[in-house]
Amino acid sequence: MNRCEANGLRYYQFEGLPTDQVDHAVFTRLGGASSGAYSALNLGGTVGDKPEAVVENHRRLFKAAGRDYESRFDVWQVHGTTMVYSDQPRSQDQKHQPADGIFTDNPDVTLIMRFADCVPLVLYDPVNRAVGLVHAGWQGTLLRIGELAVDYMRERFNSDPANLFAGIGPSICGSCYEVGEDVRERFLKTFEADGRSFFSERNGSLYLDLWGANAYSLRKAGVRQIEQSGLCTAENLDEWYSYRKEKGFTGRFGVVIGLKHAEHK
Ligand SMILES: [Zn+2]
Repeated sequence: MNRCEANGLRYYQFEGLPTDQVDHAVFTRLGGASSGAYSALNLGGTVGDKPEAVVENHRRLFKAAGRDYESRFDVWQVHGTTMVYSDQPRSQDQKHQPADGIFTDNPDVTLIMRFADCVPLVLYDPVNRAVGLVHAGWQGTLLRIGELAVDYMRERFNSDPANLFAGIGPSICGSCYEVGEDVRERFLKTFEADGRSFFSERNGSLYLDLWGANAYSLRKAGVRQIEQSGLCTAENLDEWYSYRKEKGFTGRFGVVIGLKHAEHK
């Protein structure tokens, strides 16, 4: 990924996403208004941080991303597989819908999600002009949410998976994410023998490679262009929030994506 700075905020961009077609950014925790465990650019409104700081952080993020704050569309991320399409921003009085995949083909909408170890998946269809953003924790990964998201784009936008770009964003890596034997058993039930490659053992502990599992699901769905950020949240607390490493007492960083208007083509 490319590292960028704007207005005191630091973010990363996938090299494979054309910046003349798509606005997108994976924001680090730097440059926000929050303090303490939430320092500094916390986007999570339900993690114990001051609400006014979180709103200010959202405003700073949208400004740095070059997107209108009023264009945002977000959901209540619940570790499921519900996919939601929206052709308009979420209005102030509209409640968050529970979902873990959001999509739009309207350049006036900016998709935003919050993360702290879970895997952000960004999707772009350059032919049918559509974008998607997916929240894949271990549960969503187990439910093959990457594959389901591609299927959704195929149905909704007539996307050909062979044309899609998929980015696997900063999240906890396969050397840091310790899980129980019960998790492996569930993965082997779903992914059968192929699931074995997602796990490794070290000093009697078991680790799950969420990046590998999500790349597998995306490839299964027919995606050929997959870019891995290779950035581990748990190993880089200066830039990222890590729910696991910080023992649940932390913020959420933001990932945004939106189409540019066609005249910018
Ligand atoms: Zn790691």
